Amino acid sequence: MANIKNKRSQNVEGNFYVDQTCIDCGTCYWMAPKVFEEISGMSAVTTQPEFKDEKRAMEALFSCPTNSIGYAGQRVEMRRVSKTFPLLIEENVFHNGYHSENSYGAASYFIQRENGNILVDSPRYSSVISKNIADQGGVSLQYLTHRDDVADTDLYQKNFQAKRLMHKDDISEKTNHFEIQLEGQDDYPIDNDLLVIPVPGHTKGHTVLLYKEKYLFTGDHLAFSKNLDHLYAFKTACWYDFKIQIESMEKLLNYDFTHVLPGHGAPFKASTTSEMKEQLRKCIEWMKN
Ligand code: SF4
Repeated sequence: MANIKNKRSQNVEGNFYVDQTCIDCGTCYWMAPKVFEEISGMSAVTTQPEFKDEKRAMEALFSCPTNSIGYAGQRVEMRRVSKTFPLLIEENVFHNGYHSENSYGAASYFIQRENGNILVDSPRYSSVISKNIADQGGVSLQYLTHRDDVADTDLYQKNFQAKRLMHKDDISEKTNHFEIQLEGQDDYPIDNDLLVIPVPGHTKGHTVLLYKEKYLFTGDHLAFSKNLDHLYAFKTACWYDFKIQIESMEKLLNYDFTHVLPGHGAPFKASTTSEMKEQLRKCIEWMKN
């Protein structure tokens, strides 16, 4: 839990605060941008939330990977919000919250489907998430975009007995027990509505998941930059080969989707597939420059 004695001086007075343990992962900035802002390399509460924003700030509190956000108000409200995860994004696609420090605060997602639910990357282990996902039908497959976002996958596997799927090129000693290890660069259909697409670059074995030709779960391959106002890639956090990552980005122009659900930063939604392709072209041009 955040420690009020360790509270940053940059916070405005009120119930919410950020303490000195913040790792500046950015989660609270996109989840509750009216409340949290980056000041001097860490988050701080710059506006105390009211009404709807208070719920969102509390969701950010539970999603913070280092428990750096504190709340000095009523515990009843905290308990109520803690039980509302995973959080609905749209249709049957959810944001799990409860980000893990082991994946540098990356977001993970949950897809509820008639043909079996999918956990996309891993939240930190939480009995609340686990129970709520169990209530929504459990998990039939754990899909991992790449080696960095594995977090507490094995603990969720114990609960749900779901096979873990990741590309072989990202498998290490710690993950060589994963049941499904993809090889090569061909697309891998999991079901009629689910396609794994290899996109090497950020890591050698990075893949993305396309659901219903609408939602693209992108891990650390592709995200949206508020500053640039277009899709982009993490150039200073590329662990394999940025030129290959550009080729992988170009390959995505061959697919239709309107939603990008990244590991880091806010989900991005285009109104049409053409608008998304235009965004992708901007991203590729920016990467090349
Ligand atoms: S979510 Fe937590 S660690 Fe991440 S920026 Fe906010 S306070 Fe810092």
